[in-house]
Amino acid sequence: MNDGLEVKKEVSWSKQIRLLVNKKCNYNCSFPGSCREWCHKDGVRTGKMDRIPKVTVEDFLFFADAVRIPFGIEKVKVGAMEPLLYPGIFDLISGLKKIGYKEVSMTTNGYFLQKNLDKLEKTGLDTLTVSMHAFNKEAYRSITRIDGFDMVKNAVEEATKRKFTKVKVNRVLLKVDDLWGDLMRFFDWAVANKVRVKLYKLIWSPEMDSKKYFDNYVSWKGLMVFLRKNGKLKGIDSFTIAGRQRFLWELNNGLEIETDVFGHKLGEEMSSICRKCSLAQYCQEGLLSYGIEVNPDLVVSPCLLRDDVNLDLYSLIKERDGERLRSKLSQYIDKIANR
Ligand code: SF4
Ligand code: SF4
Repeated sequence: MNDGLEVKKEVSWSKQIRLLVNKKCNYNCSFPGSCREWCHKDGVRTGKMDRIPKVTVEDFLFFADAVRIPFGIEKVKVGAMEPLLYPGIFDLISGLKKIGYKEVSMTTNGYFLQKNLDKLEKTGLDTLTVSMHAFNKEAYRSITRIDGFDMVKNAVEEATKRKFTKVKVNRVLLKVDDLWGDLMRFFDWAVANKVRVKLYKLIWSPEMDSKKYFDNYVSWKGLMVFLRKNGKLKGIDSFTIAGRQRFLWELNNGLEIETDVFGHKLGEEMSSICRKCSLAQYCQEGLLSYGIEVNPDLVVSPCLLRDDVNLDLYSLIKERDGERLRSKLSQYIDKIANR
């Protein structure tokens, strides 16, 4: 695939950390028109019982500081269930900037965004990503079970006028009425507001109702003709351990759209852990798909479907033992990367 491709990068894993800071969300994202949830509950499902002493902002900052230079990491993504429900969110983001991270991003459902924009702007946050899985009130409410579409859309528009370097909107594609029309209106709004779009396929996990998953699954690849006719593929980032590729498209009207491809789970280039894994036939993400992901219990969780490949760093972080933490993490990544 090469239609005027400008950048093609391949690395073993995405050199970023992802900090999942809490286990709470005010939404219950579900299949449209049903009460069956599809949310993967990042950081909850793979978590331990709540830890004592509690995990603090300083713990996350210690970890981020300890790994940044030795592992060559420049980006940090802050997520959660909903990070704006985490009381330490502003201290965490400003602390990450002070440590020296070049890009700090945060992903939110946007419900509490409007009233927190001033504080977020002051933290030095670089990239703000807001999830909107539909672009009309009814479908948005049918998925989130919250009447928040207008408020979230207005907050995103306001955010584009602030000092953030980038504002992005994430959308997991689901079968809503008039999906094509909804996407076209979404794209028009995004280009008018200089928002970058990220489209995801819904990833299966064992908690999901299989029929609902099948009935609602939509691939962004259905848009391939539209994307090629109206723009070009500008870049591809490949992460070989995960078998993940991130495509960046640019439409002729200037809209940038990111899409993800996961694959090659059983190929020779995959980690031996994946090649021997009994869940590989169901697995759509790979190991370390989003870099080093640390959940709210300070456990590194590199796989969406398996907890037995996690690495618990709670004690080393609490003891502020940076040297042992780096050594353990380095051995762990070597083991995961082993083919
Ligand atoms: S907003 Fe995000 S974390 Fe909250 S329920 Fe929806 S998908 Fe899950
Ligand atoms: S479930 Fe986890 S270990 Fe198994 S193939 Fe997928 S990423 Fe690899």
